[in-house]
Amino acid sequence: MTSLACRTEIALLRLPEYLHQIVDRLASFDATVTEGVNMVSFEFPYGSARFLMQPGLLVMEASAPNVEGLRRVKELLGVAIELYAKSEKPQMVWTGDLADDTILSSFRLMRLHSAWQVTPGMRRVRLEGDNLERFDNPNSMHIRMLFPTAAVPEPVWPIAGSNGLAFWPSEERRPVSRVYTIRDLDVTAGHIDVDFVVHGDTEGSDEGVGCAWAMHAVKGDVVGIMGPLGRPVRPADWYIMGCDETGLPALSRILERLPPQARGVAFVEVAAADDEQEIAHPEGIELRWIHRNGVPGGEHPELVRSIRAVEWPEDVTSFGWFASENEATKEVREYWRNTMAYGRDKTLAAGYWKRGVAGVMAG
Ligand SMILES: Cc1cc2nc3c(=O)[nH]c(=O)nc-3n(C[C@H](O)[C@H](O)[C@H](O)COP(=O)(O)OP(=O)(O)OC[C@H]3O[C@@H](n4cnc5c(N)ncnc54)[C@H](O)[C@@H]3O)c2cc1C
Repeated sequence: MTSLACRTEIALLRLPEYLHQIVDRLASFDATVTEGVNMVSFEFPYGSARFLMQPGLLVMEASAPNVEGLRRVKELLGVAIELYAKSEKPQMVWTGDLADDTILSSFRLMRLHSAWQVTPGMRRVRLEGDNLERFDNPNSMHIRMLFPTAAVPEPVWPIAGSNGLAFWPSEERRPVSRVYTIRDLDVTAGHIDVDFVVHGDTEGSDEGVGCAWAMHAVKGDVVGIMGPLGRPVRPADWYIMGCDETGLPALSRILERLPPQARGVAFVEVAAADDEQEIAHPEGIELRWIHRNGVPGGEHPELVRSIRAVEWPEDVTSFGWFASENEATKEVREYWRNTMAYGRDKTLAAGYWKRGVAGVMAG
């Protein structure tokens, strides 16, 4: 039953050009969508929304049974508008319930509970926090982590601005952010695990902030998380997957949840044999490890070569997933999309880091 409601009016001259992208994005968040004349409505598990279109104007209405639900709906709508209407510099000001609310529903302050080496090259960090339900989503596994640094040891955390989106009260004290994957979580116990690739100790520098934090943080140290982020792997009969260590937490979660009858092959590039991990996976998915054996990350050609060498079966539905260094990812994406002409419905290839560049986010 709806008890909270709010609305905003946004001047958007070119809305008809990108409305379908906004609707598609919102639909992908478990929404039931109903389209009418100059109207679209969305039923989410935690609230609902309605678009009323007039020439040059979009009216957005949001409603929910409780505060958390309304915050989530507002944020979903706001992010979709920012993403697709960016060139029109949308001005969103919400009126009604929670109009002055400054709590950002996607943000949680977490504290380090414990950390341990999973393998020589991978450190697992267990973080404790409250109210983690929204992060329990296998279709959206990633988080933006916000780290204190030597330069900004006591950062300010993001709040919700008047448009409902993340706002930083101080640019000078804004934390450094990096994208990571939730390797595991226990909502009842109130913790999440994140696996950090150990790629060099640069404590005190602006580079390698994520890695250095994982190596040196001690019980009780704080870190912010925002999310969850990410797109789902589409259901298929047969899968081809490939990643380096940075994609291994995501691949592990995907493999753990595939149905037992799933078939295919997954290639994982790691530094050496002792960086292999035990991963639950369907019997019909062959797991093949590639060792760099001294070659620096992002420079070994075998992962891309292996992906390209596999022939996709023709008589079943298939999906290709790839996550690695940016150049390797580009090669795989070009091969799948351009050479093989497989579309977005069949492939997802994401650059997880870029050689020589700090703080790269997935595009
Ligand atoms: C969707 C997504 C999910 C991700 N999940 C994870 C995850 O679960 N675990 C994880 O460890 N990483 C993950 N990454 C990758 C991670 O965000 C990057 O590796 C990030 O650069 C690490 O930040 P940093 O502060 O340690 O290094 P940065 O400050 O970003 O980079 C400093 C230097 O280190 C180099 N560098 C960065 N990463 C690596 C690496 N892996 N190997 C070798 N050199 C590197 C950079 O090229 C740069 O020269 C993910 C990325 C994305 C986009």
